[in-house]
Amino acid sequence: MTRCDQEVIGQQVFLTKLNILYSASKRGLLSNLIFGTVLPLMLVDKVSNPAAVYLWYAVMMMLLLARGWSIRSYFKKSPDYADSKRWRDYFTLGAAATGMMWGVATLIMFPANYPVYQLFTGLVIIGMISTAVGFLSIFPLVYISYMLMAIVPFAGSLFFYGMPYTVLGLLAIPFMLFLTLTARTLAEETTSSLWSKFQNQLLAEQLACEKARAETSSRAKSEFLSRMSHELRTPMNAVIGFSQLLKFNLKNGENREYIGHIEAAGEHLMRLINEILDLSRIESGRYELNIGTHSLAELVQDSLSLIAPLLRQTQITLQNDIQDLPIRVDDKRFRQALLNLLSNAVKYNREAGTIRVGSVSLPGNRVRVTVADSGIGVPSHKLADIFEPFDRGNVDEYEIEGTGIGLSISKTLIEQMDGEVGAESTEGQGSTFWLIVPRANPKPITK
Ligand code: ADP
Repeated sequence: MTRCDQEVIGQQVFLTKLNILYSASKRGLLSNLIFGTVLPLMLVDKVSNPAAVYLWYAVMMMLLLARGWSIRSYFKKSPDYADSKRWRDYFTLGAAATGMMWGVATLIMFPANYPVYQLFTGLVIIGMISTAVGFLSIFPLVYISYMLMAIVPFAGSLFFYGMPYTVLGLLAIPFMLFLTLTARTLAEETTSSLWSKFQNQLLAEQLACEKARAETSSRAKSEFLSRMSHELRTPMNAVIGFSQLLKFNLKNGENREYIGHIEAAGEHLMRLINEILDLSRIESGRYELNIGTHSLAELVQDSLSLIAPLLRQTQITLQNDIQDLPIRVDDKRFRQALLNLLSNAVKYNREAGTIRVGSVSLPGNRVRVTVADSGIGVPSHKLADIFEPFDRGNVDEYEIEGTGIGLSISKTLIEQMDGEVGAESTEGQGSTFWLIVPRANPKPITK
């Protein structure tokens, strides 16, 4: 999260708190109106100076009217951050003025000869101050100004009445302290929960943005690869075709060898282009899977027959332990993935090595097909990477031809068939690559 993000969140938090303050103050004004009317009504004929009470009531009502009008203007304007501090200050002034009016009320409506009415005034003031914590504490300074203005004159006046009023006046000190602490705690909690809310919102927005950007760039990459591969295939076909023709016509041994190199390099490039085209098509999902029930043994046999000439050339022994299980796959794409594992098992094997193809049923109606070889193996820290496109593990030192695309194609294909692909390996001793695919019910097999 950058400093700029934090500033934006800080502003959002401030504006939300101000909104909460102004919304809650509607109820605050209502309670001021009710208590500010009942108190003078009850006490006007008990006090020594009723005129002061009438004056108080008139001022109080005007003040409440002004504050009501300011709340209305606030919501009408819904000020931005630049303006918001001014609105907070208006509010603080209004709250302090209302507090002061309550402070004055305790001075003029605390009748010396009517202890019950004194209690009445005292309770109203304490009640007003306590309930205001809920309304005003979101900005502790607003609450504290209101509370001090209301209680300090009241507590101070109690000292003039002697005991036990003095004790009551003294008790106002811890009372103010506790209320201040409560206001601070409430404000901190609200502020921190607003911070987390806005932080989460911002993170969610950023994540959605990054996801959309990644998807767009991945689509653009796939399209670029696909278009480039198409464009490259035509000239490459010409290079390979003409080099074959030249080789056929040339007698000179050295030149024939050179042309042979051009042809081999051309074929290598062509394989690479075809694989890239395949990868981009598979990654962009621009093909349809044709899932059906197939015999695992038959699919394996088809793939094995394709690598039989390679096995003969390299004198690799094959052990086929495949069970005949029905599986739910796209037969063409399953063969493609398996063929890639098999040709790797040959390519990365040692001379006269072994390959074992096996299968096992797994819980949850799944089948694991394994291709184990006795080849060069993959270092454990490379095992996860080799499934990424263009990653060639550590085979560079062996100069074995390849593009690093086959495994990532196999993985994507098998995953799109609801399967999994993985490998275990010991460097220098061999590897076991496996495919897990859904097992079909032992019902008819699609031909
Ligand atoms: P390629 O074989 O064209 O490089 P793959 O995607 O099929 O591409 O394989 C990626 C890498 O995984 C290979 O370059 C090799 O390092 C490693 N690898 C795959 N199969 C085997 C295997 N049977 N034994 C050892 N290494 C393997």
